[in-house]
Amino acid sequence: MSTLSLEIRDGVAVLRFDNPPVNSFGLEMRGLLLSALGGAEADPAAGAVILIGSGKGFSGGADIREFGTPKSYAEPNLLTLLRAIEGCSKPVIAAIEGICMGGGLEMALACHYRVAAGSARIALPEVKLGLLPGAGGTQRLPRLIGVEAALNMIVSGAAVGAEKLRATPLFDVFSEGDLLTSALDFARTVVAEGRGLKRVRDIDIRMPNAEAYLQFARNTIKAVAGPYPAPLACVEAIAAAVREPFDKGMKRERELFTSMMFTPESAALRHIFQAERAASHIGDVPESTATRAIDRVAVIGAGTMGGGITMTFINAGLPVVLLETSQDALDRGLANIRRNYQGALRKGTLDEASLEKRLALITPTLRYESLRDADLVVEAVFENMEVKKRVFETLDGIARPGAILATNTSALNLDIIATFTRRPQDVIGLHFFSPANVMRLLEVVRGARTAKDVLATAMALAKKLGKMAVVSGVCDGFIGNRMVARYAEAAHDLVMAGALPQQIDAALQSFGMVMGPFRMSDLAGLDIGWALRKRKAAEFPDRDWSNVADVLCEAGRFGQKSGAGWYRYEEGSRNAIADPEVTAIIEKYRGQKGFTPRTVSDEEIVERCIYALVNEGARIVEEGIAQRSSDVDIVYLNGYGFPAYRGGPLFYADQCGLIEVERTLRRIASSPGADAAFWTPAPLLARLAREGKTFSEFKGSSP
Ligand code: NAD
Repeated sequence: MSTLSLEIRDGVAVLRFDNPPVNSFGLEMRGLLLSALGGAEADPAAGAVILIGSGKGFSGGADIREFGTPKSYAEPNLLTLLRAIEGCSKPVIAAIEGICMGGGLEMALACHYRVAAGSARIALPEVKLGLLPGAGGTQRLPRLIGVEAALNMIVSGAAVGAEKLRATPLFDVFSEGDLLTSALDFARTVVAEGRGLKRVRDIDIRMPNAEAYLQFARNTIKAVAGPYPAPLACVEAIAAAVREPFDKGMKRERELFTSMMFTPESAALRHIFQAERAASHIGDVPESTATRAIDRVAVIGAGTMGGGITMTFINAGLPVVLLETSQDALDRGLANIRRNYQGALRKGTLDEASLEKRLALITPTLRYESLRDADLVVEAVFENMEVKKRVFETLDGIARPGAILATNTSALNLDIIATFTRRPQDVIGLHFFSPANVMRLLEVVRGARTAKDVLATAMALAKKLGKMAVVSGVCDGFIGNRMVARYAEAAHDLVMAGALPQQIDAALQSFGMVMGPFRMSDLAGLDIGWALRKRKAAEFPDRDWSNVADVLCEAGRFGQKSGAGWYRYEEGSRNAIADPEVTAIIEKYRGQKGFTPRTVSDEEIVERCIYALVNEGARIVEEGIAQRSSDVDIVYLNGYGFPAYRGGPLFYADQCGLIEVERTLRRIASSPGADAAFWTPAPLLARLAREGKTFSEFKGSSP
């Protein structure tokens, strides 16, 4: 809730605004501020006005929840409020500590003076949402800190500590003690000395060769901005500040801001911003749910995943007991962990002493007794139900009551794993992605009997570990791997239809995927899928599980690790080179299976692969495996290299229009040779299309 207090202290009006968590300027707060300012201006007892935030900061700026709604423009809008501040007949002083960002900084810039505490961190981060500052930030900041410094801040959106800007006229006073006391002292001096109203708009920008510098900035930014239009728009707004009188510059900034507001890139970035916040809410688990303390962790298995998971915990300062089956495996795992830190040492982001401190948090062991005190145990042993069974049965006899027992399984049924214990309520899936210490995504897998406080604890822990957690229900592959399986299937069918892996990868990379499906498969290893298909073929013999990748594996082509897979690789290089041998294998395989190759367009490749993802995503949301469509987007953006500027597969489908997506799926389903069951639109997708709705409007099926 927004509140504002107005108090007259020794001839100075102090306006303190309070709107947790970041004192954002939503419509309500803007109204309160405008009327309090009017009150202070009219009050003869006040010679000056101080604006100060509550809590730990000045303000985080606009209220993001109002973005795209009429509230964000409703009067008093931010521009109106800032005009009133700048036009106030009494000196207005911003007293700044903690965060002062976006509209918060723009407000401070509209004040006549600024007093800062050393804790102040200032930024204009709008570019991160595909926008630019829209309330004078691009016009006033260059007037105070110079064109170059302002451009760097505005184009990067990065936060800068006040100390760094101490030498600029941005701050009139640097407070060494209590911020309000310093601001009050300064306000009285301003009044006593009749310093008057110092308006930033009246400062002239003097920069020799400004045009040449701006052109250099344009060229540099064009080369790195990729598909994002906002960074260049920021430069144009600053160019207007340099070239035009203040009011004309403000007008140009507004035009650019409004045009950015309607770009699909900004819509996608704003969707992600909100999706990330939504992901931490679990429908039937109240925010107030008490969490369990996690101070001591154990990891079982020091292989690829166990090693990365251990690093994740020790990086966050949590001690880890690491269990293996043999001294050899333990030594290998520890050596790998040490090796994985070498990159950080080389880059200088970590020093030897800190590394040793982190490594000292690991207690290697071969004995389960050492796991007795753990608050959380994460199992990362072989992906085999019998092995997991033995581990969980043993754990059940050892772990202390209330300890959380987690599995990192990629595909095994969590509900079955939970039955290996007498405490299924304490069992949860923590599905880290490889490399676990690097990848931000964490699927928190909720079993049928997982307790609510265990879920709440896992979500809180993820935050502490710096992970982006998304809750998934139990199904084959959870959210991400279940979807990627459909994507891979669509890509394989396109190879059978006549496309080559390099064409498919190139088309999807042009769409924006970090890596096409065949390069991804070479990176992960073709043998994993091969083993899986063999298992499935034994389990369900009435279906044809064969795949041209089987032939590649039979020829020893397992991907990057064997120097050849869908591509070939030169010694020591990860550069994927198209290989005529693979083309020959594919052509022969098509012949054996009775496929007549045809021309496949890049457009068809993108349509089929991405819509296969969308269709499976729709099923996942409908079944309640994901709580909401934006959770599916978060998984795909953080775990599978989906381009941020497209907002995730389901947001992308919303942008294409679900009517269009549904029609395309039906067309593919009825095309010759297509697997109709695969391509038939998911019931939720069909329903939303019929009702003219979007995935974003669907509020989910889970509890
Ligand atoms: P890995 O083969 O690299 O490591 C497994 C480790 O577990 C080995 O070091 C082995 O010695 C040890 N181990 C086996 N049985 C054990 C036992 N009873 N007690 C203690 N240690 C034991 O495998 P990985 O790739 O790290 O996969 C581990 C788990 O993580 C699997 O369930 C896998 O599905 C899952 N996972 C893997 C990935 C990935 O990309 N590799 C991603 C997500 C999840």
